[in-house]
Amino acid sequence: MPAAEVIMLDTRSLLVSLLITVCVSALAFGLAIRASSRRQPERAWLIAHLQLGVSLAAGILLWDFPPALAMIALQVSVLAFVALIIDAACLVLDARQERRQLAIIAALGVSSLALAGFIGIAFTYRAALLSGALAALQGLGARVLLRGSSKETPAQRALGLLAATGAALFLLRAGWSLTGTVPSVLANSATQTLTILLGIVLIQATGILSALFLRERTVLQLERDASHDALTHVFNRRAFEPLAVGAISRLQRINSCVGVLMIDIDHFKRINDEHGHAAGDHVLTAVVACVGTTLRSADIMARWGGEEFAVLLADVTDADEALKVAQRLCDAVARLECHTAHETLHCTISVGVAATHTAIGFDTLVDAADKALYEAKRAGRNCVRIAQLAG
Ligand code: GH3
Ligand code: MG
Ligand code: MG
Repeated sequence: MPAAEVIMLDTRSLLVSLLITVCVSALAFGLAIRASSRRQPERAWLIAHLQLGVSLAAGILLWDFPPALAMIALQVSVLAFVALIIDAACLVLDARQERRQLAIIAALGVSSLALAGFIGIAFTYRAALLSGALAALQGLGARVLLRGSSKETPAQRALGLLAATGAALFLLRAGWSLTGTVPSVLANSATQTLTILLGIVLIQATGILSALFLRERTVLQLERDASHDALTHVFNRRAFEPLAVGAISRLQRINSCVGVLMIDIDHFKRINDEHGHAAGDHVLTAVVACVGTTLRSADIMARWGGEEFAVLLADVTDADEALKVAQRLCDAVARLECHTAHETLHCTISVGVAATHTAIGFDTLVDAADKALYEAKRAGRNCVRIAQLAG
């Protein structure tokens, strides 16, 4: 008995198994939609599975019926399945540009497959067309998922590798199809048995990895929400304190200068009263953006409360330099133009500075900077004052 016949299974039964796999995954994503707050990706995954399930069911039911049309419908459905799965990953990662590219590849793939079917192009060329389009879609998916950024999570990496492997395999299949020796999906053959079995495994693996990927992103988002201010997107006070304490002890271990700035927007209540709370919010975010771009990347900024911000300077040589940084911030904000829908607003800040080489704790530094801030307010605002500390 030839080796190929030993592993050959009935194609129709295999397609039924594939259909069951697709239905189970669709059910899982349907349940996930109910449990999730961000439902768009799950919905894309659900639609992907449902439409493939419907096509498979139709293909199985119309088994003895003209297969040409059923085949084209199945090919289009497989293409839509892969496109929707990758679109869901793009949605999770907010990859807008790639979503557009994905839609173009999918639209080109679907229309050329439909055209090829309509004008009756040979099966082998249609198979090559489908495999080529699937390779392009998965290649794009791999690029989105494997960006090489440090934020790449394990399930994301695994999904990316799966997409890259899929792209390579479909590219090979496209080349093989062009040789004219690829058997039809409806023909009972060992190759088709293996192809459908592989399809079942891949759909299950994609489903499990996608669910894990979504969970990873949700956890990352929750962690970010818990540590950052919702309006200005800088750290909140709770997240800042341990970060600052850690940075201070690192700097003090190498006898570096530690600088803390307390920043308060001047007469901010007036901005709210005269221009409205929304304009106030706008000014707050503009001031934070301005301060953020004036600071160095190693410095840590946080919203201390209301219109008050704290900064840990991680890279100053002495108190004099800390004072210069504070003055730079003050000047930058004074020059800032905050454009709202109706007007252009200006504001200023006052800054209190505490900087030292001596080993004093975070609370003492903040306290000293706060007192210096009060001095700056008393001195007329839009200015900088420094606390007198040893070292
Ligand atoms: P000073 O120069 O002495 O700091 O005066 P000020 O008006 O800035 O200080 P005050 O503490 O009297 O007022 C701060 C105002 O900031 C009051 C509060 O309503 C407003 N505020 C706090 N948080 C927000 C916010 O998230 N958005 C807006 N729009 N306003 C806020
Ligand atoms: Mg204020
Ligand atoms: Mg204040």
